[in-house]
Amino acid sequence: MNRIFVRLRQVVSRRPCFGTGLHSAFLFVLLFIPMLFGCTSCSVMPVYVAEGIETPGVTVGGVPTATPIVSATSTPKTTPQPTPTASPLPTLAPTPTLEPTPAPTPAPTPTPYDIPTFTANPNNNVVYLTFDDGPVGGTNRVLDILNSYGIKGTFFTVGQAIRHNPNIARRIVAEGHNLACHTNTHDFNKIYSSPEAFAADVTAWRQTVINVIGYDAGAYMIRFPGGSVNGTLSGRPDHGEYLSLMRTSGYRIYDWLLGNNDKWPGGNTDNLPFEDYLVQSYYKTLTAFGRTNYPLIFLMHDSVDESVDMLAWMIEDLLARGYVFGDLNALTQEYTFYG
Ligand SMILES: [Zn+2]
Repeated sequence: MNRIFVRLRQVVSRRPCFGTGLHSAFLFVLLFIPMLFGCTSCSVMPVYVAEGIETPGVTVGGVPTATPIVSATSTPKTTPQPTPTASPLPTLAPTPTLEPTPAPTPAPTPTPYDIPTFTANPNNNVVYLTFDDGPVGGTNRVLDILNSYGIKGTFFTVGQAIRHNPNIARRIVAEGHNLACHTNTHDFNKIYSSPEAFAADVTAWRQTVINVIGYDAGAYMIRFPGGSVNGTLSGRPDHGEYLSLMRTSGYRIYDWLLGNNDKWPGGNTDNLPFEDYLVQSYYKTLTAFGRTNYPLIFLMHDSVDESVDMLAWMIEDLLARGYVFGDLNALTQEYTFYG
């Protein structure tokens, strides 16, 4: 036992030797070198172990300031974030609906006439269509229209026009229409110079028909140019002689009750386009006389193109109102403005 103590003392007594010579160098290497390296790369390095998360210490002003440890296992305290308010989606400007652009409504055209709504007098619904001053080019169109409706027209013809248009005059007769007298010259100064001059002109018309067509109309129907009462004859003392002379010669005199004023533009006091004026005149005359008991003799001129243009429309209008069309020659009784 004593020997053990002696040995122990020897060891202790040698302790100063560690501070000198190779022993000191050895100890330095043994103790400090590993510490140097270990401080930067091993477990010796002071770490702030925070349950698996290493956060290197941060030295601020020489005093290590512990970095707040964030526990990974703890429920992360989530800072209640403000519930993101859904930003309203940008409202898209409504796409303008392209609505069809309505067609501009044309301003209503003022009706230049009052359209009668009545229908024919059932006891007097026969209309007689008559055409003056031909034959002319328009007569062919009139014949086509009348034939398409099966209407028999009466053409008060002028001898001079027959000589100019003999084929049209022949067509009137050949197609069963009435070729009636409207004097030979239609010259007011001549025919109304005296009753005898008027009678001579009528005879010339009859001879013209015979010479050109080979057809003698005989003492037939006659219409005085301007009518049996007109500005040239009226008021004259011999006015009655014109009428009586024709009657004694066997002619039946026909004026008219209805008409479209196609030779009296002076009546266009509303300054309508001519076509509208003719329609206005037609409505006016129908309104005034369409339901009377007088013979419904209608006057227009085949020499006026606008009249021919409206003929088919007028026939349709009359038919729609309950009128029918008759043969003037079948009337047998003459008709003048005096009734
Ligand atoms: Zn005439």
